[in-house]
Amino acid sequence: MQAEIIAVGTEILLGEIVNTNAQYVAKQLARFGIPSFYQTVVGDNPQRLTETIALAEKRSQLIILIGGLGPTPDDLTKQTLAAHLQKRLLADQVALEKLVTWQKQIKKEMPTNNLAQADYIEGSEVLANDVGLAIGCYLKTADHVYVVLPGPPREMLPMVDHQVVPRLAQLTGAKQVIVSKMLRFFGIGESLLADQLADLIGQQRNPTIATYLKGYEIGVRLTAYATDAQTAEAIIAPLAQEVRDRLSDFYTGEGEERTLVDEVVDLLKQRQLSVTAAESLTAGLFQAKLAEISGTSTVFSGGFVTYADAVKTQLLGIPAKTIERETVVSAEVARLMAESSRKQIDTEFGLGFTGVAGPDELAGQPAGTVFIALAQRDDDTQVQLFHLAGQRNEVRERAVASGFKMLYD
Ligand code: ATP
Ligand code: MG
Repeated sequence: MQAEIIAVGTEILLGEIVNTNAQYVAKQLARFGIPSFYQTVVGDNPQRLTETIALAEKRSQLIILIGGLGPTPDDLTKQTLAAHLQKRLLADQVALEKLVTWQKQIKKEMPTNNLAQADYIEGSEVLANDVGLAIGCYLKTADHVYVVLPGPPREMLPMVDHQVVPRLAQLTGAKQVIVSKMLRFFGIGESLLADQLADLIGQQRNPTIATYLKGYEIGVRLTAYATDAQTAEAIIAPLAQEVRDRLSDFYTGEGEERTLVDEVVDLLKQRQLSVTAAESLTAGLFQAKLAEISGTSTVFSGGFVTYADAVKTQLLGIPAKTIERETVVSAEVARLMAESSRKQIDTEFGLGFTGVAGPDELAGQPAGTVFIALAQRDDDTQVQLFHLAGQRNEVRERAVASGFKMLYD
């Protein structure tokens, strides 16, 4: 069985809202191992909706229509599907009573179309709407299963969870599950990464393998089908190991919802180690990222924003002569920034960021030149030179991410 989602609504086509409903339903389909090769968005237009339904019928057996069940004249999904299937619309008594009661309460004139929200397509099971007024339908015909759902997510989501999911489980016997694992990498471009995995990507089947940009990290998602989650995980494990081994220098952790910053903060917490920073071009961005994670205060208590040379001297005690001699964008200044901040806050790690965010060059260096130093309590300070691509704020973001990677390693 193949499924297809049709989201109905001109506002989605116009980019006014994001099609999160389709995303949610797609995830549920994946959970049941129901393959889905097409998703469509169509405006509130009965002719184009009919064409879309007819096309979906040719290639899919399970057709899920979302949106356009409301009372306004542009809400035509049920009417259009009913007409297409040459079936009548009937009023569901429970929903109708609810509508009438609601109507009395608000004491406003009823839009003519309002009662249509209580309609269901002849022969279908009613999908009750506990949150709103428009009911959905679940209709089985000889060749297809149609699911009709309202557009507002707060109505649609519980209907999917409580009424559609159980029916899908029944349809499929729920024998297949899909399990995904996301591995994350930083410091390598997406195309280079894909090159390293070219043979694996080329021969993929089960598990499948795909790469994604996730902020400044790259995600490699491995997805496997099996009859149960444990088997699916066992299918994924060796491939995950292979991918991690090939790209071990760039590996930053696992998990779709997590980021490099989460990983760093967790590691610091586990080892009870603290960190600080002195930031020039990033002007506090590294520290702000740390603070985004709740519970960071156990590993981070403060640091320095030293944008101007004079402030580097004033707060960090970096001699003006050194800055003059080495220039501000130099390994030596980065090192002194890291070491001074670490000593003053008395932390395990201190980072120093100095560089050229751009667009203009600075101290004879082109935009994107960044030195990052990592000072440690009982070890030598490391300094790395980066040539970062992008506009001013991308350079600053990338510099911060690079700092986190140095700390992670
Ligand atoms: P209503 O009774 O509110 O008119 P409806 O079933 O007719 O409900 P739509 O008119 O299509 O649904 O959409 C109502 C609202 O639901 C939209 O303005 C939007 O906020 C949300 N919505 C609709 N479709 C989607 C979608 N695919 N993804 C996310 N939100 C959606
Ligand atoms: Mg509507």
